[in-house]
Amino acid sequence: MYYDNNTVTYYDGEWQFAKDCKAGLYQQSFHYGNGVFEGIRAYATDHGTKILRAKEHYQRLLYSAKTMHLDVDYSVDELIELTYQLLKKNNLQDAYIRPLIFTHEKLGLQAENKTHLFLCAWDWSQYFDEGQLSMKVSPYCRPDPKSCHVDAKVSGHYVNSILAMKDAHADGFDDALLVDQKGYIAEASGANFFMQKDGKLYTPPKGNILPGITRSIVMELAKANDIEVIEQHFKPEEIFGAEGAFLTGTAVEIKAIGDVDKHPFSLSWEDTFGAMLQQQFHKIVREQKVNHKKTKAA
Ligand code: PMP
Repeated sequence: MYYDNNTVTYYDGEWQFAKDCKAGLYQQSFHYGNGVFEGIRAYATDHGTKILRAKEHYQRLLYSAKTMHLDVDYSVDELIELTYQLLKKNNLQDAYIRPLIFTHEKLGLQAENKTHLFLCAWDWSQYFDEGQLSMKVSPYCRPDPKSCHVDAKVSGHYVNSILAMKDAHADGFDDALLVDQKGYIAEASGANFFMQKDGKLYTPPKGNILPGITRSIVMELAKANDIEVIEQHFKPEEIFGAEGAFLTGTAVEIKAIGDVDKHPFSLSWEDTFGAMLQQQFHKIVREQKVNHKKTKAA
């Protein structure tokens, strides 16, 4: 799925076939999760393929690297340029891009700052899936912000997501909704959470979440539509009885949630802000004109 014999990647300053890339088994990243990465999307538009919020994604990658004391010899602009070349070399238009920064060989726990850069991409032209997610409030909570930099996209943080996802799947749910140390909703295994209640959107504030780039696009879009977005802590019980809810993330884009812990929402998805923002989001990523709706009475 990710590559075939012709897939080209950028690895340690060279264009190399994915099938020929080799990485050692003695790296700190492999043993202890000390690596950082991004998930980025490119979309076909009338003006050619465009990477969505490329600058923000690469700024976050460099920020994540800094939190882990990883040295990166590339600027945001260089990384963006390389990514456009990567897409071109692989003849990709709608694509998912995965930059990864990982360490050199070292099995001690002293921070290793010398790094490798790997850039790869694959076709992601699947059509929008209209299904709705069934979410389980997870028994796992997000990592404590005092134990790591939760706002950085660090490889090792994702063992938490994998455990939560596994637990949700075992109980027949699609995904997990994780709480913070105080029991407030934080985010899903790999996406941010919004709920609609009393005609407003609520989303957990920064602090215990990865502040998503899609989350910020949705907040901008909501503003343009006169929808109030409140960044506030709330408990799982406060979701039950809400009007609707959705996830946001590079991979899921804006994704409807059908129920949380089997509690459905009072509005059908089509009548929620989420559905309207979802339609507008699909236009924005393809750089098409969006007609914002003024949701409040004049
Ligand atoms: N939270 C987590 C834990 C994630 O892995 C992601 C995906 N990167 C998000 C939120 C959403 O972030 P973004 O919109 O930048 O993809």
